Amino acid sequence: MPLPSVIHGAKQCTVNCKRTGIRCKNPCAFGSKRACRLHGSHRSKNVLKGANHPQYRHGERTKDSIEEHQKTQLRLHTLEEIGHHIKLFVEGSPRTRGRKPTGWEPLDLNDPNQLALAILKTIKE
Ligand SMILES: [Zn+2]
Repeated sequence: MPLPSVIHGAKQCTVNCKRTGIRCKNPCAFGSKRACRLHGSHRSKNVLKGANHPQYRHGERTKDSIEEHQKTQLRLHTLEEIGHHIKLFVEGSPRTRGRKPTGWEPLDLNDPNQLALAILKTIKE
């Protein structure tokens, strides 16, 4: 028998019992769309972040450091494109290989507006 809150329109937990195969009848908890408090739902403010998280090792793969790395890669790639455009490098010198950094958009550096935009991208905030 589902709880009264489920009967009155609350979302029901979608987890099926491992032993019986019957769907859990508890209401979804803490704003979750999927699970009740017994099946993995939790308050987001209780999630440990950064150095307090149990999987934290060295801080190189935190969301903040990954975002910082992506910004740096984008800045370096833009600087390389500007360098090739102003013929800073030897003619025909190889460009950095591989996938372009996240957020990269090819710019037409002959257009002064786009060149100014590219230079603004390279400035560290
Ligand atoms: Zn449940």
